[in-house]
Amino acid sequence: MSREPGALTGNEDERLHQAIAMAVEARASAYARYSGFAMGAAVVGIDGRSTRGVLVENVSLGLSMCAERVALFTAVTEAVAPAVLAVCAPRTGGQLTFPCGACLQVGLEVAGAELVIVAVDPDGVHERAPLLTLLTRAPKRHTPITGPAG
Ligand SMILES: [Zn+2]
Repeated sequence: MSREPGALTGNEDERLHQAIAMAVEARASAYARYSGFAMGAAVVGIDGRSTRGVLVENVSLGLSMCAERVALFTAVTEAVAPAVLAVCAPRTGGQLTFPCGACLQVGLEVAGAELVIVAVDPDGVHERAPLLTLLTRAPKRHTPITGPAG
């Protein structure tokens, strides 16, 4: 069954709410001692399994890693096919904070264009968006991944 990128139905709506709750919860574990900008993320897979991630900063800033990328990499590690990626963070410029471009590109690579992206603020206000509306004209894989990478 194909669907519009970003469209959710039935169980998918449950996945969205599961991802939001997990991202909000994960945020409490963020290692954001330099910026103070705590971020948590969660991936909920097509099969309902899930992974979490948090921002992990380092005194050598280039070694820091976004919460959403940690959640996506963990999904790859645990063979979870991502359906929803939720990110919980403070607002930036008064707007909900969506994943950065690098993490969207990683999401496109490991989950494809149908990955639903959800931004949620610490008060639980959220908005979802299809990945390609956030990352227009991104480089795309030529063939879908049908099994473990290799
Ligand atoms: Zn990022």
